Amino acid sequence: MQLFIGGSLVRSRLGSPPRASLSFSSAMDTALSRRRRGSNTAGDAIFSRCGVDKRIMSSSLMDSLRPENLLRFGYKDCVLCEVLRPGEEERCRDCSGRLGQRDRLLWEIHRERIRRTAGKLSLLYPGLGHLYSGRTLYGIFWAALLPLTLVLVLSLRSGISIGHGFLLLGAGMVWWMAFVDARRGPREPVAPCESACPAHIRVPDYIALVREGRPLEALALVHDKLPFAAFCGRACPHPCEQECVRNEWGAPISIMAIKRYAADLGYAAGISPSSGIEEGVPRPRVAVVGAGASGLSAADTLARLGARVTVFDPNEEPGGMMRYGAAEFRFPAEGIRADVSPILARGVHFRGGVTFDRDATFASLEKEGFDAVLIAVGCREAVRLPGAGGEHQGFHDALSFLLRVRNHRTPRLHGRVVVIGGGNVAIDAARSALRMGASDVTVACIESREAMPAFPWEIEAAVSEGATLLTNTAVKRFHLRDDVVTAFEAMKVERIDIDAAGKIAPRTVSGSEFEVPADAVVMAIGTRPDLSFLPDGIRRKEVDRRHHVFRLQFPEREPKILAYICGDCVRGSGTVVEASASGRAAAMNIFADLCVEEVRKARFRDNYRRRSEPQVTDRPEWRVRRRAERLSPGSARGSFEEVEKRLADRCAHEESERCARCNLSL
Ligand SMILES: Cc1cc2nc3c(=O)[nH]c(=O)nc-3n(C[C@H](O)[C@H](O)[C@H](O)COP(=O)(O)OP(=O)(O)OC[C@H]3O[C@@H](n4cnc5c(N)ncnc54)[C@H](O)[C@@H]3O)c2cc1C
Ligand code: SF4
Repeated sequence: MQLFIGGSLVRSRLGSPPRASLSFSSAMDTALSRRRRGSNTAGDAIFSRCGVDKRIMSSSLMDSLRPENLLRFGYKDCVLCEVLRPGEEERCRDCSGRLGQRDRLLWEIHRERIRRTAGKLSLLYPGLGHLYSGRTLYGIFWAALLPLTLVLVLSLRSGISIGHGFLLLGAGMVWWMAFVDARRGPREPVAPCESACPAHIRVPDYIALVREGRPLEALALVHDKLPFAAFCGRACPHPCEQECVRNEWGAPISIMAIKRYAADLGYAAGISPSSGIEEGVPRPRVAVVGAGASGLSAADTLARLGARVTVFDPNEEPGGMMRYGAAEFRFPAEGIRADVSPILARGVHFRGGVTFDRDATFASLEKEGFDAVLIAVGCREAVRLPGAGGEHQGFHDALSFLLRVRNHRTPRLHGRVVVIGGGNVAIDAARSALRMGASDVTVACIESREAMPAFPWEIEAAVSEGATLLTNTAVKRFHLRDDVVTAFEAMKVERIDIDAAGKIAPRTVSGSEFEVPADAVVMAIGTRPDLSFLPDGIRRKEVDRRHHVFRLQFPEREPKILAYICGDCVRGSGTVVEASASGRAAAMNIFADLCVEEVRKARFRDNYRRRSEPQVTDRPEWRVRRRAERLSPGSARGSFEEVEKRLADRCAHEESERCARCNLSL
């Protein structure tokens, strides 16, 4: 089977023998025969939307409509319509104008700009913004409401009354609602899972592709919004599953496991990066500092838009915390290599061994010819408890500990290890300590089990592998003998307050002191960003609150380079999907600032909606959630092998069948 992904022809090992071009021709034949019969329907629509002049229809035209020639007719690198199979003729109907990913991204930037301007205009006068953004009927509606209200107000000439006040309040509300509606833009039908995803991946569509046996296309669709399909298929908090409507009928769809299935099969088949950038488009140079989720996602988006991107990082391999933090038994190193290689193949240049401030600065990057810099250095400076000593005394900070475990450089542990903290990092450290030979591992945290910030399924895995939880517990002081830790004194926590400075302040129960023996202590009580390299007096201007993107404004006139900051170093520790969405948003803002004219020219109507019937009935077998196999806790504890496996083919298919395709019924 031949597939078009990103405009280049790739050969899939997944499909059936060659028939793609034949089937496409047969689709077009169907359309042609309809046309010959004089029907003014699908055929016309397909041809006109493919940009085909009806007058020049000939047999050579059929050749030009083969998938390998579609690029010339607007279907540049549509992620879903690479191959048209028999019976799928209808699919392209509403896909008019669905151009290459660069056009789509440019339009996304432009659309956001239009919305912002529309919001501002609506503050001047209700309805103005709607008219500006092309929503004429809405504009007339909103514009009509205000004079109506004013007429009513003026008609009350009998002096100021409470009714008068209410009407004025009503006018104010109209004004405000018109602003909100203009700023938000037209509502699109979005499934609950999709709106819950911080990256807004088109969940129902990629699930449908997996159901159709097209994991490669499903992966391409995930990549449209998120480059880390392998990571997020394994270790995402998956808020999408919490919102899935199937929670009400049995159990949610295993969305994360389906994503992993698509990623594993798609990468194995060799997903090709996007098409090359055409001649003549502007190609600004952008430096990205930090090769974590946010930096790489920004680099990926900028490269798709045509920018020449270099990513700088002190490490030898890109990936940030996905590569050097998350434990190997949850996310093996091959996973991050699979996620990163399409980004590098898109032309992103990675320069390892470079620390910003020491080896590069804003001024030096400007001198090197970069037009913009994005700071995405993460949040990795460990917070330590007072009284905690160095490693020779048996104290470790969790990030360095995990890094050494990943690099197989940690000596085997023995005795009792206590991990202090209740987040994912603490749980990763505890499960790693069990694998490194500790006889007894305790996780001590101030929260109750229900309130621990770690993912509940990770806590469960740690407990099943043998870790003990010591919840509602605060450390009072450490005990050392011969300058090595032997225990710590703990107190029971009755509640957790937040003090005036916004810091967590546990309220302990007086007289509840008890001792916890420990041969080693791993501290995982949080991290904070280290941004000491930013010049004094630098100011941040918020450009995207939801995605934590800021523009940096230098106090002096030099350097002149455009600078942005995003990711965990702005929001504090978060998740990969959030960091990736932040990087993508930063990239769009950078490109919009550098290539104003390109963005202004963007025109695109994405009418795309997959043709397929939503589920109307419920079947008993759809109530059962398929799960991937896991190593038993006993064997998991003894090795760094990945604990959770990929869904089997049959399970992936059955699980994707359960999806109700909510976006189609909205
Ligand atoms: C142990 C652990 C487990 C986690 N588990 C999960 C999980 O299961 N699921 C999930 O979604 N999230 C998880 N996270 C969180 C997730 O990894 C982060 O939210 C995400 O990686 C943040 O991306 P980022 O790009 O902002 O920062 P990072 O991934 O930290 O990347 C920052 C990059 O900047 C580089 N850098 C730092 N300083 C400089 C400098 N001066 N010059 C140049 N480069 C610099 C760093 O080397 C690093 O590569 C986990 C985090 C940790 C630590
Ligand atoms: S049933 Fe499918 S489309 Fe609906 S919320 Fe769940 S995953 Fe999303």
